Amino acid sequence: MVVDSESRDMVFERLVDEVNSCRKCERMNESARILGHGVGDLDAEIMFIGEAPGRLGADQTSIPFHGDVAGDNFEELLDFVGITRDRIYVTNAVLCNPRDAKGNNATPVVREVLNCSGFLKKQIDLVDPKIIVTLGATALKALENIENHGLSLRDSVRTSNDWFGRVLVPLYHPGKRAMIHRSFANQRSDYQFVAETLKKVSRKRRKQSGAATRTELLKGCIYLIKRKHSVSYFELHKLAYLAEYLYSRKTGNRLTQAYFIRQKDGPYCVDLSLQRLRKASDSIVVSKKSGKLYLSVADDDLFSGDAGFSQGEPRPEVREILDEVVDRYSYSSDADLKTAVYLTAPMRQILRRESLERLNLYNSPIDFLTS
Ligand code: URA
Repeated sequence: MVVDSESRDMVFERLVDEVNSCRKCERMNESARILGHGVGDLDAEIMFIGEAPGRLGADQTSIPFHGDVAGDNFEELLDFVGITRDRIYVTNAVLCNPRDAKGNNATPVVREVLNCSGFLKKQIDLVDPKIIVTLGATALKALENIENHGLSLRDSVRTSNDWFGRVLVPLYHPGKRAMIHRSFANQRSDYQFVAETLKKVSRKRRKQSGAATRTELLKGCIYLIKRKHSVSYFELHKLAYLAEYLYSRKTGNRLTQAYFIRQKDGPYCVDLSLQRLRKASDSIVVSKKSGKLYLSVADDDLFSGDAGFSQGEPRPEVREILDEVVDRYSYSSDADLKTAVYLTAPMRQILRRESLERLNLYNSPIDFLTS
């Protein structure tokens, strides 16, 4: 199916409605359906398919492979090979979170995978990716319900296979359980293979060539925390957004390749989890006051050059923008900061669409360059 981006959006919205009204699997009839803007780029050249949303991850965040251990591993593996979430489409063989009688994550049964296979096919037809990467045996098997491939994960892991005009690459699931079969080191090599395959088939030029990497984003955020001494987690996401916004207004390019989405209280940066920040600097101190999370830098490191960050300070142009953001947007209340953020063009564009089309665009990507 060949569709332009606008009709792709419309077909996708219809599919989301269809999925929301599905009642085929009894034990998941009341579950959240994890299909929405958190999937990523509808024009992506590469699609990753997991098993089912995790109870502590996608089921909470509405973003496939985000927020739980499997999500953290997945994002770390992508990061390792420089693939950003704004270039990929991520979904699951089953779109609801299956749980056992104790309320823990369960593997979907054959019938449940079959029930969801029509939705998987529609997603593949719509996105039309050149490469499909299955994560785990369930996802690989789910494709058999669409078109036969005859592959097994054990024999075909990290290989390119022609599957009805697409390249099918079977990989192991990045969750804790699968590490028994595939070490993290091996999984890194798997993702290098995927990145190489993507390079070979890439049809569009990278949109943001020259933009800083996620490491640069983390460096920038640590710089922000140091400058302000203490920043709430809420504020950090908004300031990072404003830095990205100001830079894109001035230069027409993105400052970083970070993936920002619209959430209930404004922009949220998927690449800026607490875990990542802690990993980037062991001097980051996280504390909680009146139910809010705050980040600061340990006293000992406050005046040292790099605050425990092994790779040094952000680039001068990043620092310049961050200084401007701190000077312009250092409000005393979250409400004022939220207003400032909602007044920016990319957020206004989203709000306008929500109101005109009576849509909820939570988790949809924020587009800095065309608004
Ligand atoms: N999160 C997902 O979205 N899918 C999985 O298979 C596991 C965790």
